[in-house]
Amino acid sequence: MSSCHHENIDLKYKLFRSNRKTLSIIIEPNRDVIIRAPNKMSKSSIEEFIFQKQGWIFGKLAEFDRNGEITHYNFVDGEIFNFMGEKYVLQITRTDKKRTNVKVHKNILSVTTLANNSIQIKNAIIKWYREQAFEYLSKTTHQYYIQFKNKAKHELIEVKIRTYKRKWGSTSSKGTITFNWKLMMAPKNIIDYVIIHELTHLIHMNHSKLFWNELHKYYPDYKMARNWLKSNGYLLEIA
Ligand SMILES: [Zn+2]
Repeated sequence: MSSCHHENIDLKYKLFRSNRKTLSIIIEPNRDVIIRAPNKMSKSSIEEFIFQKQGWIFGKLAEFDRNGEITHYNFVDGEIFNFMGEKYVLQITRTDKKRTNVKVHKNILSVTTLANNSIQIKNAIIKWYREQAFEYLSKTTHQYYIQFKNKAKHELIEVKIRTYKRKWGSTSSKGTITFNWKLMMAPKNIIDYVIIHELTHLIHMNHSKLFWNELHKYYPDYKMARNWLKSNGYLLEIA
């Protein structure tokens, strides 16, 4: 397995050389990227080709991902929930106490509740995600902000949590950074990418070349994270 690092494209591929005359790329349904190349072709020419074809490659990978369906939950024991890159099995315990308690312990998402319908359990789980989002995202954003403080044109005032359909975060010139709680279903390195992306907006309030150059200094692998969100973002849902 080789890794392509041309222009920060993070892509692993399998390279097969032969006496063929041309290069070919195929993506297998298991997401393996197979490159067939002439014996004498240099690694940099191969990676240049990957660079040219990146739109097609990541589009194909996303297509295979989309065949993975969004999980439709019934909010019953045994269902799997994603939280910061880990999987947790839902375990519901009945209680006669009024207060619903949600926590993770080992690989269990434990809901102790009086509620006996799925909507109440769903709401309790979403409330828990929002609380975790606020705790992790506000703490981590303030920690990273230390590195941005001197350059930032806008001071970080507060971190808020919201529900967005198709957005992971936003930053206002008043210094408010708002995150989508659904981000907590992504792996930690992706969550941190979104935090750093939003903090970079305190320096550049747009997506100009300057913005991406700046972001690259704080998060060199940003293209990988963007591609991950493009391909997998739609799966971060509790439906
Ligand atoms: Zn942005």
